[in-house]
Amino acid sequence: MLQGLPVSPGVAVGRAVIVRFGGLPAFRRAVLPDEFDAEEKRLRRASRLAAQEFRRHSGEAAGDIGAELAAILEAHGLIASDETYLEAVLERVRRDRVNAEWALAEVTRELGKRFETADSDAMRERAADIHDVAREITRHLTGGKDVLPPELPRGSILVADEISPVDASRLDPRRVRALVLERGGPTSHATIIARSFGLPAVVGIPGVCEAVSPEKPIVVDGDRGTVETNPSKERLRRSLLRVREGRERTRRQRARTSRDATTRDGVRIVVRANLELAEEFGALERYHAEGVGLFRSEFLYLRAAPRSPGIEEQRAVYESLLAAAAPHPVVVRTYDLGGEKGIGPARGENPALGLRGLRYCLAHPELFAAQLEALCLASREGPLSILLPMVTSLSEVQAARVELEKAARRAGVSEAPPLGVMVEVPSAALLAERLAPATDFFSIGTNDLAQYALAVDRSNPDVAPLYQPLHPSILRMLRSVIDAGRSQGRPVAVCGELAADPLGIAVLVGLGIREISVTPVAIAGVKDSLWAIDSTRVRALAEKALAAAEASEVEKLFRGRL
Ligand code: PEP
Ligand code: MG
Repeated sequence: MLQGLPVSPGVAVGRAVIVRFGGLPAFRRAVLPDEFDAEEKRLRRASRLAAQEFRRHSGEAAGDIGAELAAILEAHGLIASDETYLEAVLERVRRDRVNAEWALAEVTRELGKRFETADSDAMRERAADIHDVAREITRHLTGGKDVLPPELPRGSILVADEISPVDASRLDPRRVRALVLERGGPTSHATIIARSFGLPAVVGIPGVCEAVSPEKPIVVDGDRGTVETNPSKERLRRSLLRVREGRERTRRQRARTSRDATTRDGVRIVVRANLELAEEFGALERYHAEGVGLFRSEFLYLRAAPRSPGIEEQRAVYESLLAAAAPHPVVVRTYDLGGEKGIGPARGENPALGLRGLRYCLAHPELFAAQLEALCLASREGPLSILLPMVTSLSEVQAARVELEKAARRAGVSEAPPLGVMVEVPSAALLAERLAPATDFFSIGTNDLAQYALAVDRSNPDVAPLYQPLHPSILRMLRSVIDAGRSQGRPVAVCGELAADPLGIAVLVGLGIREISVTPVAIAGVKDSLWAIDSTRVRALAEKALAAAEASEVEKLFRGRL
């Protein structure tokens, strides 16, 4: 029984499909002893081809760039055909009964680690060399294809070191039953995608890729955060029973969701949906969402990469989103690129603090202009608003407004769509009063607000216990935004994951929030939580919570009284 962090609820039983995306990407497959020879042939052929290629490049480099690069490439060729290296990989194939790609990745990782910790610079550089070589051999082994098999078998459970949000968004929820990751956190984007697909997920189990056997049944419990390898027949039977109960519970819950959301004492709360992908648009009706509170448009961009989606292509998506949400409104967030590794162009050691969100768009005016024009064109078809991610100061909002006015003129619309500020950085929360005149509405992103306020990486399991969106410092920031919105007539919504948490909902309503946006599958549970809340009671509790010093105090306060 392996223990990790429960990040998406539900129980699943399925066969493990093991993939490594980071470092040297590889897919793990079990091989039988009578396949060892075939694996050896594949590996030797790939090593020969890689070595040939390095030698060819070395010859070319010697002619036009210089002797130094030629020597490096020559050395790469030697490593690629090094007999000790290849034998170590083949030994791993036989010992662990795994495919050559996986064995190569494992041996290379171990070698690389040894080089990285060496004393001399020259030795440390060898770590990079060996990874380059292995990458080339892998390319010949796989024929240059993606690591993730295009069609995972039905009933798979994906076990991986990490997964980029885009790769996660490409998973087919009819084939994959659950997700298990070595890294990741409660609000990392891969986790958010797993939740929106309704897939149970557990993250933060280092070494899980080795601990689980490929193609063998495992049990993933997304409520408790456990992964069971080699379950007995009896355990399997009981787990399957829980899967069935879970399905039944969801069905009953969903049957109730058509009722509007109010608190027990009748305060109306608007519940909208967060969406990432065009495939999810149908969920709006299924889960009775009152429109879309957050459309993460960057997935449109990332899935179209390496080309950028054109104006007409974007417009068609935004229009179909409006049609799916009608008669309710839709909020489209402009590209939130940069940031977490794997979300677009992440550069530097600290992408979350780099060129991300609105900063990225302002630095790439053509990209921004095309998106704003597409949004203006689509706004003719229904109530569409635009939301700016990662706002840190007033001048950024003003610059975006100028670009939006220009886009509206190009699109020939008499009035630009409403423009909102996403409050997800402490500077914006604390200055909400000064931002309010420049914005039409606020939407608070608690996922990033918690990350930046508490200096806790939202996708790092090592600091997951410190990731506390109910920290009183954050409640005070929420209060600042809510007050600014109220005094200046700007609506304030919350679109972070906190809005899908039963305790979080009570706190938010207590602070005065009347509009939230959550992943569609969470809507039914959110309404259940709302129906149980008394608004005057949670208001009094929220006042007390603002004076607390710790998140645990806030939790205790609410948990004890609800
Ligand atoms: C947030 O930061 O709270 C948010 C809703 O946006 P994302 O999770 O995409 O960063
Ligand atoms: Mg965010």
